[in-house]
Amino acid sequence: MADNFDVLIVGAGAAGMMCALTAAQRGRRVLLLEHYGKLAEKIRISGGGRCNFTNINAGPENYLSSNPHFCRSALARYTPQHFIGLLERHGIGYHEKKLGQLFCDAGSEAIIAVLKGECDDAGVRWCQPCEVQEIGRSDAFYITTSRGSFRAESLVVASGGLSIPKIGATPFGYKIAQQFGIPVTRLKPGLVPLSFHPEAWQPYAELAGISLDAVVSYGKQSFRENLLFTHRGLSGPAILQISSYWEHGGPLSINLMPEQDAARLFAGERGSRVLLDNFLAQHWPRRFAEVWCAQFTENKPLNQYNDKQLAQLAGRISDWQITPTGTLGYARAEVTCGGVDTHALSSRTMECNSVPGLYFIGEVVDVTGQLGGYNFQWAWASAHAAGEAA
Ligand SMILES: Cc1cc2nc3c(=O)[nH]c(=O)nc-3n(C[C@H](O)[C@H](O)[C@H](O)COP(=O)(O)OP(=O)(O)OC[C@H]3O[C@@H](n4cnc5c(N)ncnc54)[C@H](O)[C@@H]3O)c2cc1C
Repeated sequence: MADNFDVLIVGAGAAGMMCALTAAQRGRRVLLLEHYGKLAEKIRISGGGRCNFTNINAGPENYLSSNPHFCRSALARYTPQHFIGLLERHGIGYHEKKLGQLFCDAGSEAIIAVLKGECDDAGVRWCQPCEVQEIGRSDAFYITTSRGSFRAESLVVASGGLSIPKIGATPFGYKIAQQFGIPVTRLKPGLVPLSFHPEAWQPYAELAGISLDAVVSYGKQSFRENLLFTHRGLSGPAILQISSYWEHGGPLSINLMPEQDAARLFAGERGSRVLLDNFLAQHWPRRFAEVWCAQFTENKPLNQYNDKQLAQLAGRISDWQITPTGTLGYARAEVTCGGVDTHALSSRTMECNSVPGLYFIGEVVDVTGQLGGYNFQWAWASAHAAGEAA
């Protein structure tokens, strides 16, 4: 005999816990099933251990999706202020770092404790660690697991994306979508460092650890943030941001002096006897100036370059074209771009149009936030929408 619940939720991460507490507070009998031994590992490691739990400016424009308006309804009904209110009720302090990004003063564990505490107070039941072996549907959903069988009229899939498999990520959600005939859009790692061919990157590999302010563009998308050199390529917030938009084979354009017009700078130094790398080192980390110059030109006093050469150099500074060969993959990605096709879901409730009672929430859905707290805000908002309905 299967144990009876109203709502079964697979995945006790950010979205799963928020959905569980919301549904249980409505009086629903909720069971949360989690296969991993530890709770909400992604929250724990997020934001360098301080969890960038939301962004006060979160809006639809901060998300990638093949259906850009889909996230609007859920985001409007559960806003950053709602989550801030939850933390404040528990006396949890937070601070804004930059660009509306809110971090937890006491660290990520405090956020996990709030969610777990709210779930427990509302009477959510837990099944962890627990392997889901089979899901069937007749008059209701039936789940067979390593810890028994369960039945409920609603099944919420909150199993997240593919990034960082070593802390529990699995393709579970995409497989369940497939089982029920729900389409999944193309998946790829997002918010991920980019790599280059080892030979092509060899001159820059020694710059590992150096960062500078830059504007990184791909197509119409641009981000001004730090750019970080690594042994294998580029990382840092500007690169993580653009990586979600980048497609294989496409060149990035990098403005290495966003505050300055390089052509005008050179024009002002036309008669100068200062060596090019020394001049650039006034604007960049010295080692970067040396290595970058060595790639493109002989290092000479500025007054020994002709106008054409200086114009070319200025062009390379404001539009350094560079083509990554790949990404560091799901092992290093913060998110999975793509997911359960939102055209198959209700934007109010996250319920599948063709399978009543089946819900997908959080990262498993084809809604991917930019870097800066947007992914958790989507997890909270989509989970809340489903928790009110399931
Ligand atoms: C290093 C890193 C740092 C990040 N920092 C931030 C940040 O600061 N701010 C931000 O907004 N976002 C951040 N993110 C992204 C954010 O963590 C995710 O978008 C968010 O956790 C998604 O929530 P979710 O509940 O959908 O999925 P998850 O939090 O991944 O939860 C999914 C849960 O489902 C479980 N699960 C998977 N498969 C199964 C299965 N077969 N059976 C049962 N359970 C299963 C998993 O173990 C997990 O507990 C970061 C991600 C990473 C990797």
